[in-house]
Amino acid sequence: MPRPFTTEDYTARLDRATAEATAAGLAGLVVAPGPDLAYLCGYTPTAVTERLTALVLTAGRQPALVVPKLERPDAEKAVGAPALRLLDWTDGEDQYAAAAPLLDPAGRYGVSDNAWAMHLLGLQAALPGIGFTSLTETLPMLRAVKDTEELERLAAAGGAADAAYRRILDVEFAGRRETDVAADLGALLIQYGHSQVDFTVVGSGPNGADPHHEADERVIRPGDTVVLDFGGLKDGYGSDTTRTVHVGPEVPAEVQRVHDVVRLAQQTAFEAVRPGVSCQEIDRIARRVITEAGYGEYFIHRTGHGIGLTTHEPPYLVEGEERPLVPGMCFSIEPGIYLPGRFGVRIEDIVTVTATGGRRLNNTPHELAVVS
Ligand code: ZN
Ligand code: ZN
Ligand code: ZN
Repeated sequence: MPRPFTTEDYTARLDRATAEATAAGLAGLVVAPGPDLAYLCGYTPTAVTERLTALVLTAGRQPALVVPKLERPDAEKAVGAPALRLLDWTDGEDQYAAAAPLLDPAGRYGVSDNAWAMHLLGLQAALPGIGFTSLTETLPMLRAVKDTEELERLAAAGGAADAAYRRILDVEFAGRRETDVAADLGALLIQYGHSQVDFTVVGSGPNGADPHHEADERVIRPGDTVVLDFGGLKDGYGSDTTRTVHVGPEVPAEVQRVHDVVRLAQQTAFEAVRPGVSCQEIDRIARRVITEAGYGEYFIHRTGHGIGLTTHEPPYLVEGEERPLVPGMCFSIEPGIYLPGRFGVRIEDIVTVTATGGRRLNNTPHELAVVS
C-alpha cells in the first residue's frame, strides 16, 4: 500500500502552486472542486454543484477555502485542511460576495479548467475588474511532475490494468459483441482494485480504425483485429493501456506488418524518452517510424497525453508542445495506424521519465496476441 498523503505533502504543493502562480505574473489561483483541488488539499466534495466551493491561493497569504456552511464539516476532514483558512457562507447569502474579499479586485487569476462557468461569471460580476486565465494555459505543468508516492500509485494502477489484459486474452471474442468484451474488461479493472472505470474501448474490425470508438453491438468475428484500450482510477490515480489482438486462427500478413510498424514506433519513441527532450520530439519520432513504413497519413492521433489524478492531462505529446520532459512526468506513448473501413492497431503504455531515460508502468508483452 502506498503511504497516505500528509498535511505536509499538501502544504508543499500549496506553496509551490502559489510560487508558480506568482512567477507566472498572476495575482493567484482560484481552484475549483476536481483534480486540482484534490491535488492541492485532498478535498473532494461529495458533489460539485451550484453552491460555490473554491480554494484561493495568493502570495503572502494563507490559502483560503470558501465552502458552503453545510459542507464545512466535510471540508474540515480533508487531510490538507489544517493548512487552509476555511471561510463559509450560508444558503441565502450571496456566495460570490462571500468569496470576493479573498480576491484582488484588479488581479488576474489562474482558474481550474473544470470550474463551472456560472461560478466564474458570478465572481466576475462581483468583481468586474478581475481577470481569469485557464490553468492549462498558464500553469500546465502544475500537476505534471509526479512525486514518489504518486508514481507508486500510478505504477499500481498500471499493474492492475496489465493484470486485466492478461485475463482478457482467455475470454471468447468470436461470436460476442464488443460491449460484452468491454463489460469483461470493466469488471476485471474493478476486480484488480480500480474504483472507477473511465473507458473500455473494444474496436473490432473496421471499428478499430476510429481511435475513439468505445464499444458497440458489433459481433466480433474470426479474422477481426481488435483494439483494446482501457483504464480508470485506482487509489485516485489513472491507468490507460492499449493492446491490439487478433481473432485467429490465422494472422493476415498485412495485419502483422501494420502491428510490427506500430510496435517499432512505440519502442523507438519509448527509447527516446529522457529529461530535456521536448514533448513534440517524442511525437515526431513515433511519427517518423510510421511515415517511413508508408502509413503516415493513417496515424491520425497525437502520440500521448499525461496521466495522474485524471486519465488525460498535460503534458501532451503533440506537435507544437515544446516543453521539455522532466523526471517524474507520466504520460502515454500510444502510436497507432487507423485504416478506414478495415482495421486499426494501437499500442499504448504509460511511461514515466527517470533521471536517465524512461520507465514503463505497463509491462504486458507487445507481441500481437491471437485470441479465440
Ligand atoms: Zn484519443
Ligand atoms: Zn488509452
Ligand atoms: Zn491514452
